[in-house]
Amino acid sequence: MARLELDDLTKVFTDDDGGEVVAVEEVSIDIADGEFLVLVGPSGCGKSTTLRMIAGLETVSDGRIRLGDRVIDDKKPQDRDIAMVFQSYALYPHMTVRGNMSFGLEESTEMPDDEIRTLVDDTAGMLGIAELLERTPTELSGGQRQRVALGRAIVREPEVFLMDEPLSNLDAKLRSEMRTELQRLQEDLDTTTVYVTHDQTEAMTMGDRIAILNDGRLQQVATPLEAYHQPANRFVAGFIGEPSMNFFDVEVQGDQLVHAPAGDTSAGEFSYPISADTRESLQATSRATLGIRPEDIEIVGAAESGRDFDTTVDVVEPMGDENNLYLGFSADSERTFVATVGGMRRVEEGQPAVARVPESAIHLFDADTGGALQNRTLRDAAATEPEL
Ligand code: ADP
Ligand code: MG
Repeated sequence: MARLELDDLTKVFTDDDGGEVVAVEEVSIDIADGEFLVLVGPSGCGKSTTLRMIAGLETVSDGRIRLGDRVIDDKKPQDRDIAMVFQSYALYPHMTVRGNMSFGLEESTEMPDDEIRTLVDDTAGMLGIAELLERTPTELSGGQRQRVALGRAIVREPEVFLMDEPLSNLDAKLRSEMRTELQRLQEDLDTTTVYVTHDQTEAMTMGDRIAILNDGRLQQVATPLEAYHQPANRFVAGFIGEPSMNFFDVEVQGDQLVHAPAGDTSAGEFSYPISADTRESLQATSRATLGIRPEDIEIVGAAESGRDFDTTVDVVEPMGDENNLYLGFSADSERTFVATVGGMRRVEEGQPAVARVPESAIHLFDADTGGALQNRTLRDAAATEPEL
């Protein structure tokens, strides 16, 4: 078992026209021994390239990779003690499940045949595929193939597992089952794991910590709840959470945030009073982005303060346990924002609603850099939630 350190990792590709594509730029992450780290970000942000550099399938343009106390970025893939699981499974179609799981050990270790047999049997038992060992991949379902691909990685007993969107070919129900199973498995094996996904739900539910990547650059490394409540910037705030955080462009005018949509000459829809503390965290900022999560907006009976807004319900999206309300500041407003309320609450499209935006729940971001100027306070949440 080992700690994995990525130190200023950079990858520059040369495209067909000879131009340079910076796929990964100075990414540094220190992954603890036994940690489950999820690397998450939109398609094309450099996740697979990062993983492939760790595996040795792609050369490093700049930076260092250390595993334990060894530098490994100059080592061949087979000498790195790392096993990778791909989205496509990459099983040998003509070999049985047993053949697929044994092959790597037969090729690159001195392990005696009977030991390999026992190890494969045990691992197959652990993954619930013992009765499939003599079948070929074409005789398996997608979920079963995914288990075989995992089993093949597990029997290698590597220092590190790398997984590149391993569940994305499975249907939604199986995916959520495998999510839980993979987590349990990783906990039992206690093997350092880097798991890549574009799905923020997977990242939130699976990771000890998550590393959020955008455009080749690392945005934040944090526990899922830190990333959710204390996002480092507007990108993270918008990427983590479903439905997304609501954002409003505002101008800072004294003790008011005046809505002023960027690139839009029409008048803003509201002004929002702020306390002296909030004013102070804005310092000299003149334009900012106000963020509020849908579940932090309360729908109340009547407006009581300047932080309560008259709106009209444009669309109701029933989710069963919750309703997502798309609210407009006026009946014909084209701009809507989302508030989440309980699923049993009766709400009709077109009806008026008063939306309360508590100051303790707002986030503020610099309009130019996107960096967080103020995140929501967790004091009130911590005080009211009993410990389990
Ligand atoms: P992700 O896995 O996050 O979707 P990738 O790591 O596959 O993203 O790709 C990151 C960026 O690098 C993309 O812009 C992609 O087009 C580019 N890229 C990936 N592989 C190559 C390559 N072999 N040659 C040129 N550009 C590449
Ligand atoms: Mg990818």
